Formats: sequence, structure tokens, C-alpha cells
Amino acid sequence: MPWLPCHLKSLSTTGSVRRSWRSILLLTMAAFLLGGCARDYVSGRPTFSLIDEEKEIALGKESDEQIVTQYGLYEDRDLAVYVDEIGQSLAAVSQRPELKYHFRVLDDGVVNAFALPGGYIYMPRGILAYFNSEDQLAGVLGHETAHVVARHGVEQMSKQVLFTGFGLTDRLAQRFPVIGGVATAPINLGLLKYSRDQESESDLLGVEYATRVGFDAHTMADFFRTIGAMSAEAGGSVPTYLSSHPHPEQRYERVNQLADEWQKKVDYIPRGTEPIDYLRRIDGMVYGPDPRQGFTQEEMYFHPSLGFQFSVPADWNLANTATRVIVVAPNEEALVVMTLTDASSASTAADSFLKEANPQVTDRRKESVNGLPAVVVESVHVEGRQRTRIQSQFVEHREIVLAFHALASESDYPTYTKSFALLLGSVASITDRAILEVEPKRVRVVQAEAAGDLASILAGLGVPDDEQQEMANMNGRNLEAPVAKGDWLKIVR
Ligand SMILES: [Zn+2]
Repeated sequence: MPWLPCHLKSLSTTGSVRRSWRSILLLTMAAFLLGGCARDYVSGRPTFSLIDEEKEIALGKESDEQIVTQYGLYEDRDLAVYVDEIGQSLAAVSQRPELKYHFRVLDDGVVNAFALPGGYIYMPRGILAYFNSEDQLAGVLGHETAHVVARHGVEQMSKQVLFTGFGLTDRLAQRFPVIGGVATAPINLGLLKYSRDQESESDLLGVEYATRVGFDAHTMADFFRTIGAMSAEAGGSVPTYLSSHPHPEQRYERVNQLADEWQKKVDYIPRGTEPIDYLRRIDGMVYGPDPRQGFTQEEMYFHPSLGFQFSVPADWNLANTATRVIVVAPNEEALVVMTLTDASSASTAADSFLKEANPQVTDRRKESVNGLPAVVVESVHVEGRQRTRIQSQFVEHREIVLAFHALASESDYPTYTKSFALLLGSVASITDRAILEVEPKRVRVVQAEAAGDLASILAGLGVPDDEQQEMANMNGRNLEAPVAKGDWLKIVR
């Protein structure tokens, strides 16, 4: 099904992803009918579960494919191997060592980490930028591994379907059910919330695993404090990592206490790595959003790595993910979805779309959009009493075909004809060299050349005033904290 959206980098067809969404529903229903025995790995006791291990792994695997498609893997093989090795060492000392674990570094700037049932654990590069030692990384990996070991997401995943119609708003998904036929439904990670008891259990187990392998879990407490500071600064909205932990200070004390206890309880042999051993791993890592994967500027959207651009109607909202771009009218009555296809031509992309979505075609024609060969299909999609009018435009650009679907209800459509025409008619190759060569910001590891407080050291390194607090958080220090000559610091450049 090559018309379906593909990952912007891998261009793997996501036809299977869409099918997987259905199969998860089926799995879920089957699970309710078939429920049976599973194991509580932490206590070692058998327990009743709707989802046995085989189903749990299948659930995780299907979701994993979608997460990798949606976020993309960060392209740094050494870093990926490093994170995986630490993760595997922790999993090996857990109560569930026989499960196959997958630790992935996602190409996303979010300061968050999460785990899915069946052994899938994700560290976006955003959180890696905030660790200041291998011990902190190991602490958080241990915590996420514990969610898998204790099967925290499993029952929840079986009850709640992790996918929503479109990931923007439920209203939008209800209004345009056809979207399901136009783009894959993204995973809504917001639904994957653990209870406070589960978080406490994972803190406990995470400290245990880290300590058994020789990591100092006290540093994990420090990291939670850093995140707590960020949380306060952002009005609690940014790091979802702590969203289910309302009392960061209590958590800080408890984790420190647990670290003391476990270091006494097991044969704790510190690995003794220095902060720089970790910092070296992330020196040069992309920080924040990567403009090469798409950005907007003055009502234009640019995708430098693929080399195309288009206009965004004034006041419309744009959501850019690794898999698709969605541009929505302010009142959500109309939208344009852009996906990539690996079809061999605009014409075959159009054929595949028609076969899959099966709308009533009112017109189909060949066009040239700013010199690019294109096929335009006008159609109406009927679902119950809802009639959605769609203008699809398949544009050949380099080796791929860009698929645009502009849609609104049949009655609203005339209101948006102009905006649709503006966007669809502006699709073109980027010619501006400065935009084609745009570079993301990167983490730089530097050494303080003199002693002083962090604020003055950062200022000396050319960090602007309004970025100093962010850099302080990233270094896990206060702006007033003393820095010794030769200390290693992270800045962003
Ligand atoms: Zn957690």
C-alpha cells in the first residue's frame, strides 16, 4: 500500500501500521474473551491477566513499529548501542531477565522517557541532553525497565485503546472519520499514564537494578529534582515525565533513602565512571527541534532534508511529526494532511489512495505544480450522513511522491477553497540555499576556563541571558552554583 504515509527518513510503508491498529483492537477484544494466567514477575506469584506474555509482546511490538515511524530513531549508532548496553545490563538483573528488551533513542527533543509493554523502552534525545552522568541515565532506564518488568502498562493497554483518531483533537477525528483512510492514527502517549503506586514501585525497582549493576542511584534523585525545577519553571506543562509524581521533593528524599538501603543490601561495587564519560557520548547531539525535519517561517513550511516547501494559510495551525504534516483551520472545520509515499509516480499514488479510501471521484486530472508533475483527484467521502469533500494532490518530488489531502465537509468546503488553493498551489522545491543548509542546535561539552558562579561562566561562553536558566537545568545546577576551573559543562550551539 505505497500511498500510505511513510516515515520521512526510512520511507518504510506504513500500510502494516494501519493494519496493526486494527489488529490491536482485535487482540484487545480477543484478550477479553480469552483472559488467562500470567505471572507477577516482581512477587513471582501467578496472577490472573487478560493478556498473557505472548499477547503482551505482540501489543508492544505493534506499537513500537508505530512509535519508531512517528518519532524516528536518532541517527547515532554509537549512542544507540551505548544506551542499549546499559539498558540490557539493568534488565539482566531484573526479576524478568528472560524477556527480550529493546532500548531506543528517539529523534525527539522532548525531555521524557517511556516504556511500553513487552520490553520496549524509549529515551528521546531530549532527555539524554539533560543527564549529567551515566548513573542518571541508568537510573531512568532502570525506572522504565521496572514498568515493563511489573507489567504496568499491560492491563491498561488492554482496556484503553492507545490510539486516537488523529492525535489533534477528538473533535477533529469525529468530524472527519475519513482521516483514518488518509493517514495513520498516531499513538497518543498521553493515555499511557501510570498510577502513583506504579510509579513508586518503579522507583523502588529502578534503584535496585541500578545499584546491582553498580550505578549510584542517588544521582537519579538529583535528576528528579532537576526535572522538578523545569516543571515549576514551565508551569508544570513541559516534562510529562513527572506529571504523575506530584511531589518531587518527597520523591527526591525517598529515592535517596532507597539508594542508601540498596547499597547496603547488595554487593554494591560502584562502576565509578566520571561525568565526562557520559558527556562525551552526547557531545554534538542535536538539541531541541531539528529544523531539517521541517519548520515554519513567515507562513511558509520548509522541509530542508527533503527539499520541499509550501505556504501555510494565515492563522492556520501546523503540526509537524516525523510521519506527516497537518495544517488545520483555526475553527477546525478544514484541514490539509500531507504524507509521503514511496509510489513510483503521482498516478500510482493516486490509484492506491482511491483503492484504499474508496471515495466517490468527481474529477481526476494531471497538472504541473511549480514545475513538478502532479495528479489531482477531487472526491467525496461518505460515511453515514457525513459527506466530506477532498481535494487530493499527488506531487512527484525527487524520488518520492508527496500526497496532500485538503478536506472539509461538503457544506463548509466552499469557504476554504481559496486557502486550499493557496497551499496546494505553492508546493515547490526549496531553492533558498540558507534554508536548504539550515543546521539544528547541538549540545556542546566545554570546560570552564576559570572559576566563578554558573551564570557568569555561561555568560562568558556566550550564552544569552534568556537561555541561562535552561542551560542551568541542563547542567543540573543553579545559576548561583560555584563552578571550578576545569569543570565540564554543557551548552547549546
Ligand atoms: Zn514512570
